[in-house]
Amino acid sequence: MTKSYLVNPKHTIDIIKKYDFVFQKRFGQNFLIDPHVLEKIIQSARITKEDYVLEIGPGIGTMTQYLAEAAGKVRAVEIDTALIPILEETLKDYSNVSILQGDILKVDVNQMVEEENEGKPIKVVANLPYYITTPIIMGLFEKKIPLQSITIMVQKEVAQRMQTGPGSKDYGALSLAVQYYAKPEIVANVPPNCFIPRPKVGSAVIRLERHPRPPVEVSDEALMFRLIRASFSQRRKTLVNSLKNSQNLSLSREEIEEALNKCGIPLTIRGEALGLEEFARLSNYIKESQKK
Ligand code: SAM
Repeated sequence: MTKSYLVNPKHTIDIIKKYDFVFQKRFGQNFLIDPHVLEKIIQSARITKEDYVLEIGPGIGTMTQYLAEAAGKVRAVEIDTALIPILEETLKDYSNVSILQGDILKVDVNQMVEEENEGKPIKVVANLPYYITTPIIMGLFEKKIPLQSITIMVQKEVAQRMQTGPGSKDYGALSLAVQYYAKPEIVANVPPNCFIPRPKVGSAVIRLERHPRPPVEVSDEALMFRLIRASFSQRRKTLVNSLKNSQNLSLSREEIEEALNKCGIPLTIRGEALGLEEFARLSNYIKESQKK
């Protein structure tokens, strides 16, 4: 039997018609129809038969078919109930795939990994719904899910934000958060004509390789991320003013100025000029002085 890969646009259209499927904009549904892009994703994720892969948002199962052939086991979480009968048909030949209907932001992925992969690190691969890219990525990292890597299609600008450093207009809290947990690498730019329907924005595939240990030592991660968010919440203000104005920190101007001086950071600097190492040093100093 020759398999009807859904990445062939004709097969995607046939399935959509057969089930009278209506695309839901609110779920960020743009299905891949380019085999080269799909092959690039699978190759960049370096999937082997040893791997347990979590796919977020399988859609009609286009990428899932490729994942199933490359991986040991695939778990796919899809929110749209209308897609479940379609997935049951398109994936029926793959015994190593299981579908869960649900919202990925509410699924207990830690428990899933514990029960289904003996708690060993998993790979996440997805063509993400763009409306919740950041909460999905941050959720995976912050909930301490055992991860080897995350290989995802995201909006091009978001991929650039994740990969960039100080000095770029794209640099921000997301760049620092991602780089604290992982090493980002953009592996492909993907134009709108690779999807049905075509998104209004350009896309990119980015691979986030989880650091075995974060690149900086931080005594209180939550405090560092509060400092980072405050520093970027008012980009045009100096770091001192941004931190002083933050309701989540309650630091006085004197405390902030002393911390910056002790950490060798100029008082006139803006938050966007600071790298991860400086945020780590600053938060460790503030943590220590709060203990006194
Ligand atoms: N993987 C398919 C592909 O590449 O053709 C579909 C990708 S499409 C960009 C995003 C998918 O994520 C859709 O199927 C959508 O229904 C699903 N989705 C949206 N929000 C979700 C959520 N909170 N949890 C799980 N799946 C979600």
